[in-house]
Amino acid sequence: MTMNSAVEIADLLLGGRRFVALSHTNPDGDALGAVLGLAHALRRLGKECVAYSQDAAPYFLRYLPGVGDLRRDWPGHNDLDAILVLDCGDFYRVGKILETIQNAPRVVNIDHHASNPMFGEWNFVDESASSTSEMVYRILRAADFVFDADTATCLYTGVFSDTRAFHNANSSPDAYRICGEMVAAGADPARVARHLYIEQRPESIRLMAAALTTLAIEDDGRIAGVTVTREMTDGAGAAQDAFEGLVDIPRSIIGVEGAYVVREVVGSDGKKRIKGSIRTTERIDATVVTAQFGGGGHRRAAGFTTEGELGDIRDHLVAALREQLGSA
Ligand code: 5GP
Ligand code: MN
Repeated sequence: MTMNSAVEIADLLLGGRRFVALSHTNPDGDALGAVLGLAHALRRLGKECVAYSQDAAPYFLRYLPGVGDLRRDWPGHNDLDAILVLDCGDFYRVGKILETIQNAPRVVNIDHHASNPMFGEWNFVDESASSTSEMVYRILRAADFVFDADTATCLYTGVFSDTRAFHNANSSPDAYRICGEMVAAGADPARVARHLYIEQRPESIRLMAAALTTLAIEDDGRIAGVTVTREMTDGAGAAQDAFEGLVDIPRSIIGVEGAYVVREVVGSDGKKRIKGSIRTTERIDATVVTAQFGGGGHRRAAGFTTEGELGDIRDHLVAALREQLGSA
């Protein structure tokens, strides 16, 4: 296991010819921004790069350049120069191709999660980066890449959405600088913000209304969350991607230190699972809580997918948040 620099990854990319770039299941703005941004840039540098995603792009990311060319089936990796795994805090986050690629050579792990176990042959991991898209930017800078509007739109989206539009503590000077540079290169901030945060489908708002009827505020207002059944999701006619940002509602309540959403999901294998999202203040390490459910993430934003009964998982999760508050 080695730790690599942006320059080393840039050299590896410049020296190769054929790549695949991929990220985690249920991709978010940083995941797809990094994958599509890097794929665009590599193509402009004269390389071949397939952008793979097990799951379709969520509705709010449909504006990303190249989103229509995402490959949903694994293209094979026998004569690739590298498999570029982006924004995966754990190797299993790649989804169903884990078995196919976990012993493959030339896996390049590019990520900004502190708990990353360095699963690649190459590892460029930096928890101080705002986003994986920021790390892709650094690699491309090291490769003397001249940013075009498509690449800039993708990387802007990744940095902007992983800072949650510069609301989060990872809104570093570099995050602002990179976004400024991407706007200068052709990213359209008003258009990106409209897709990410302003426009909502009616079913998303219907789902939000149903979900909020379950709002529970506990522990003298320090823990709050919502519990979403399959029936609520179906009743609203909402898709899996309608949940983005839902956890920000309990999180927005003054005094809340631990916010959560737990919801029933049906996987691509038809199996029922429970997905949890956690947001915390500095008094709770969210990764300690989600680790109890086999998940991960960042100190203030983490998640998990597990099996079990919705109400039981909720109770267990609230108890875990309470325990962390008690020991804070
Ligand atoms: P969200 O709550 O927005 O789905 O995810 C918040 C953070 O937790 C993200 O950084 C995401 O990568 C991480 N995360 C979400 N679900 C999982 C999971 O099932 N496993 C791991 N290891 N991390 C997760
Ligand atoms: Mn990220």
